[in-house]
Amino acid sequence: MSTARNLPGWEGTFDVRSALERDLGASVAIGNDVQVATDAEFHLGAASEYRSLLGVFWGTGVGGGIVIDGKPFIGRGAAGEIGHVVVEIGGAKCPCGRHGCMEAYAGRGAMETRARELVKKGEQTDLFEIMEKRGRERLTSGIWARALVRQDPMAVRLVDRAIEALGAGVASAVNLLDVEAVIIGGGLGVRLGDPYRKRIEHAMLPHVFADTRPPRVLLAQLGDLGGAIGAALLASEAETAAA
Ligand SMILES: [Zn+2]
Repeated sequence: MSTARNLPGWEGTFDVRSALERDLGASVAIGNDVQVATDAEFHLGAASEYRSLLGVFWGTGVGGGIVIDGKPFIGRGAAGEIGHVVVEIGGAKCPCGRHGCMEAYAGRGAMETRARELVKKGEQTDLFEIMEKRGRERLTSGIWARALVRQDPMAVRLVDRAIEALGAGVASAVNLLDVEAVIIGGGLGVRLGDPYRKRIEHAMLPHVFADTRPPRVLLAQLGDLGGAIGAALLASEAETAAA
């Protein structure tokens, strides 16, 4: 594990696998949460009939996972970071510190930051009122969903912007990989469900190069359990390989 940027002050490298194996006395396999969730959808979920797939997990950030020719593809360890595909040169600031990433528009964290800025500028929204009523401190997927049902103009606008960014970013990844299927998962993806899956598919179309045969765009089937199921698959593969 190296430079885990979401752990403040963590810049070095640490062999978490050996440390866990020593402390737990069991073999340990390490995987990226989104990649293992994509593997789970590939083996047991929405994409079990396909050989190549792109998982797009739309939540606090936007994570991605890749399966090519039936195998996970992780590059040198960091492949699948679809949230940081650039959708606008010199665009909005991303939580990663760069500019114009898809996640800067579509990540729930970035969407909340934007909503807070707009409120400071005097714009009206029900988002934070719903948040307080539900005793939350963050704009969760459920809060966004409720605000959309109320047709809250700011929520509608920010989600529209997120979908445009997802359309451009996911289509760009599809142009590179030509996968058979795209799985939409993650907190927001699963909570907003099929109508928004369709909207993402529609937003992708103008950007898909092979537009006579775009990939299937499907909703993740394993929900929040996808990551845990994928991690269990990874652990059982490691056991088999060690045996
Ligand atoms: Zn970024």
